[in-house]
Amino acid sequence: MTRVFNFGAGPATLPEPVLKRAADELLDWHGSGMSVMEMSHRGREFIRIHADAEADLRELLGIPKNYKVLFLQGGGAGQFSIVPMNLLRGKAVASYVNTGHWSIRAIAEAKRYCRVNIAASSEDANFSYAPRQDKWKVDPAAAYVHYTSNETIGGVEFHWIPDTGEIPLVADASSHILSRPLDVSRFGLIYAGAQKNIGPAGMAIVIVRDDLIGHAMPMTPSVFDYKVQAGADSMHNTPPTYSVYMAGLVFQWLKKLGGVKKMEEINIAKAQLVYDYLDQTEFYLSPVAKEDRSRMNIPFSLRNDKLDEEFLGQARARGLSELKGHRSVGGMRASIYNAMPVEGVRALVEYMRDFERTHG
Ligand code: PMP
Repeated sequence: MTRVFNFGAGPATLPEPVLKRAADELLDWHGSGMSVMEMSHRGREFIRIHADAEADLRELLGIPKNYKVLFLQGGGAGQFSIVPMNLLRGKAVASYVNTGHWSIRAIAEAKRYCRVNIAASSEDANFSYAPRQDKWKVDPAAAYVHYTSNETIGGVEFHWIPDTGEIPLVADASSHILSRPLDVSRFGLIYAGAQKNIGPAGMAIVIVRDDLIGHAMPMTPSVFDYKVQAGADSMHNTPPTYSVYMAGLVFQWLKKLGGVKKMEEINIAKAQLVYDYLDQTEFYLSPVAKEDRSRMNIPFSLRNDKLDEEFLGQARARGLSELKGHRSVGGMRASIYNAMPVEGVRALVEYMRDFERTHG
């Protein structure tokens, strides 16, 4: 068996020990005689798997007691609608910070439910930076302020938490949750699609402050009403059981590794390897403002884009896969989530250096 280094943005590489354990437990989970996939979500076994996953996530992120943790379907993009449906609380406007592709998608959905005030935007520089807080103009009537704390395609990460005063702050943390410590108490709500740092695709995790629950618009589907799901431990309908189980294994792996503080140190070191190399070459270009560079998603391009296909082909031959940039921006992108081992990042930089030597 040969496993490649998978630099895909999501679904993305998972920790190998997690995959091995899932394989070991696939046919018979802990002597139950069945796979987790086959278990009733109401059964004792699955309820324990679910409760452990939630407890481990709470421990990893230090989630305060006055926040609920929900495991929902509909992925990250589902929350683009579900957040306004639940959080507008009778108000007519929400503020959004526009930092590129995923913010734009979130804004487009929100506009179906309310007026959207763009509090800040980095469009003036092709979405290559995170707008400083002193440039934000939040509408004081806004029900909440939404931002994309890591833009997966643009490779722009907020390395600071905005202060929106009394107005609840909402983060789409899909592509960097659990990559670093997070002060949850600064947020009204944090959501993340699972398929980057959590587990298989199709699930979203929502961490929401108690006082923001219970105000859903009447038209909200009950499976997407935070109050209904919080009251049912995310089991108002059949939850994505296998995804919850896999997420639980990833949380255990992360705890064993030393938690999110340790993970952050590793992620800083991994990202540094790539950025240090990009900073001293003219062969490749890195579009993002240095202080806002993502530790998770690193877009770059070859100065001579005629070499793109050759670069990708030779990379694949070396077992470095999914380096092609998002179709909307082209170029390359290396996603180096928690589960990407440092060896993978070293292999990438070595390959980039070799390619430059032979083609520069
Ligand atoms: N937000 C961000 C920041 C993302 O990167 C993605 C997916 N790449 C989404 C939302 C959408 O997630 P999903 O495809 O699970 O709906």
